[in-house]
Amino acid sequence: MTDSFDFDLFVIGAGSGGVRAARLAAAEGARVAIAEEYRIGGTCVIRGCVPKKFLVYAADYGRALAEAEGYGWHMENRRFDWPTLLRGVHGEVDRLSAIYERNLANSGVTIFRERAELAGAQELRLTTSGREIRAQKILIASGGKPWRPLDLPGQELAITSDDVFHLKTLPRSIVIAGGGYIALEFACIFNGLGVDTTLLYRGEKILRGFDADIRDFITAELQRLGIKLIPGDVFARIEKTADGLASTLVHGGRIGSDQVMLAIGRVPQTQNLGLERAGVQIDPAGAIIVDEWSKTTGAHCWAVGDVTNRLNLTPVAIREGQCFAETEFRNHPVFFDHRDVATAVFTRPPIGVVGLAGNEARAQFGAVDIYRTRFKPMKFALAGNGEQMLMKLVVRQADQRVVGCHIAGIDAPEMIQLAAVAIKAGLTKAQFDATCAVHPTVAEELVTMRDKVGD
Ligand code: NDP
Repeated sequence: MTDSFDFDLFVIGAGSGGVRAARLAAAEGARVAIAEEYRIGGTCVIRGCVPKKFLVYAADYGRALAEAEGYGWHMENRRFDWPTLLRGVHGEVDRLSAIYERNLANSGVTIFRERAELAGAQELRLTTSGREIRAQKILIASGGKPWRPLDLPGQELAITSDDVFHLKTLPRSIVIAGGGYIALEFACIFNGLGVDTTLLYRGEKILRGFDADIRDFITAELQRLGIKLIPGDVFARIEKTADGLASTLVHGGRIGSDQVMLAIGRVPQTQNLGLERAGVQIDPAGAIIVDEWSKTTGAHCWAVGDVTNRLNLTPVAIREGQCFAETEFRNHPVFFDHRDVATAVFTRPPIGVVGLAGNEARAQFGAVDIYRTRFKPMKFALAGNGEQMLMKLVVRQADQRVVGCHIAGIDAPEMIQLAAVAIKAGLTKAQFDATCAVHPTVAEELVTMRDKVGD
């Protein structure tokens, strides 16, 4: 590599995708730098998956205390303390961020703790120090951020998922707008922590893109938990009142609450990055356009993770970053296959999904066989909470290959990781059936579904 460059690779953004690519490239002997304007670790570690999952655990512990009574445990005077939870969460986030930073440093990656913008095809500028840098290759991994509708009167009074981890007090009531991953997860968290929770979504149904059975099942479960659902409506305005906030809805309703949360999508962080100076084009949603190698339209620029708005999941960003580094710095060309990526939604009960929904499979393949079971998990027989479980397999009729697995219920996210191996491997329904059950578990239902419920 020529010495007129300061670095062989410059990565913008120290989140999951950027860090993985930087470390792998450095391990191959490349001179690598990474710039991060906020905190090392990115959305997943700092204000996404990791701290969110701690809140999910907190909500589930609370519910478990009540459910344990059915097993003979009686706990008087139980009480929840939000500051204790947040202290623990921040401690763990700090620890993980420090590990990310240490790993980068140990790999020989130079870390710039400031914002970097593109200044040319192979030039960058660090915005705090003003330092100019030349890099042979540039990887943009700047992630995404919560979207705010700036034309909504009073939107500045609402919080987003970023702000939840900094709330000084737990609200007594909250209205959450959105019907996707983030809205549902936080609705279940707040509900589990005892907050009076309302979920407002513009569509007729929550979880667009998920299998219809899962959507209906989770809707019923949210209602069972006591979350108030308002479909088919959006905020017209949000106002301050003497004792909190008042949200007026387009169809005329008005809801008072301590907090309002917007969870109506995320947008790629491409603003003011100087992309045009490097020939990097974006799509109408603001996402960087890339090919399957994560190559942008700029001759020396690649992009991975949420900034490309392909499949906005941490493990996907990591794989995209890994493939980029393997291809460009290890002489091992490989790209990530975005099919059959398993995903989990940490609602209560949680969801785990891999492969195609029933309607998607039908559209792609024509005839499909559907296997479905719905039951009360044994764990809840004595808990008396009424929680159910749904499992569904979608099978391509022509060759009996299982092309979709949909689970809503206890431990679904853990189960779907293993089901994903079978689906990715292209196993058939007969091979599922030939697998002996583990008893007594809920997972055994995956290999004991015998009766087709339709096509
Ligand atoms: P989603 O795309 O999942 O959901 C966005 C929601 O906002 C949808 O219900 C959508 O409605 C609604 N919406 C969009 N625009 C408007 C609008 N103008 N007015 C009212 N409602 C609107 O986005 P999230 O922000 O929840 O999550 C972003 C992504 O992050 C996810 O798709 C996922 O990839 C990732 N993520 C993954 C998690 C996990 O793995 N557990 C957890 C959190 C996030 P409609 O359906 O009608 O379009």
